[in-house]
Amino acid sequence: MPMPRLPERFDGDPGPFGVDLHMHSTASDGALAPSDVVALCAERGISLMALSDHDTVAGVEEAAEAARRHDMCLLPASEFSTRWQGISIHVVGLLPNGVHGALVEALEGQAQAREARAAVIAQRMEKLGLDDALARAREQAGPHRPLGRPDFARALVAAGLVPDIATAFRKHLGSGKVGDVKAHWPALTEVVGWIVAAGGVAVLAHPLRYGLTRRKRGLLLDDLVAAGGQAAELVNGFQNPDVTRDLARQLDERGLYASLGSDFHFPGGYLAPGSMSPVPRTAVPPVWTHPRLADFVAMGCDAPAAGAL
Ligand code: AMP
Ligand code: MN
Ligand code: MN
Ligand code: MN
Repeated sequence: MPMPRLPERFDGDPGPFGVDLHMHSTASDGALAPSDVVALCAERGISLMALSDHDTVAGVEEAAEAARRHDMCLLPASEFSTRWQGISIHVVGLLPNGVHGALVEALEGQAQAREARAAVIAQRMEKLGLDDALARAREQAGPHRPLGRPDFARALVAAGLVPDIATAFRKHLGSGKVGDVKAHWPALTEVVGWIVAAGGVAVLAHPLRYGLTRRKRGLLLDDLVAAGGQAAELVNGFQNPDVTRDLARQLDERGLYASLGSDFHFPGGYLAPGSMSPVPRTAVPPVWTHPRLADFVAMGCDAPAAGAL
């Protein structure tokens, strides 16, 4: 069974650590099948990974099976869409015990919320001139995946209404634009509660990507902690080293653990599994030293039975 060798603390070693706890597959808005994400991780020397598709664990079983073949450690996970202070906030649930209890209904609720949200986004995109918006987004997504904003972005591009995906987000689908429909998501504190109750570790995803002031980010971290959340991503993809150090101070002040992830979605971009900015020297402990995850790793990373996924 795999026993990844992981540092106990961040002492300024720039890495890479062979860890990536935030990645996507075709189970949500990623380009690669779950087993192909695992194969790419293995190729890139990753020994501990989490597949964290948006609001689903549908890819985890396939990924866990592939991880066994590659002798690497896979943590079941999902990136939950939540609502906090009128903003969409993402929380990665690292789920060593898989999905059980209230989390089963929670994920069903997330799927329903995503579907209901897609219908509202479609109405709003139709007002922008995208006829049959829902069908066109579905065409982009293919028959299996739950719809996400990237599918609407691609549909806008395909219809010639915007030149590219970046413009689609900037004008119509990004934070605060008409297509950013968030009323359907549960409150952050509620989601954190579900993850923690299922034996998981709730990680605030990419705290630097919400456009928050330092003070407001602190309030978000306070609410995460109050709800039982244990960690935040100190590094997500590439970020400014000064800002990372500042974020480390905010985590340290609150006793939070630090997670790391690339937020990989597709090959050929500037991000690959395991690629991310270096971690500065900090007293903030790595999330894999959290007892819930350390036990999982020490027990040989045995994924929970398929019934619990
Ligand atoms: P959703 O989960 O449906 O709310 O869609 C959010 C996803 O859209 C994110 O996880 C990213 O993968 C993608 N996304 C967000 N902003 C952008 C952007 N500016 N350009 C391209 N993709 C984006
Ligand atoms: Mn995404
Ligand atoms: Mn996210
Ligand atoms: Mn993500």
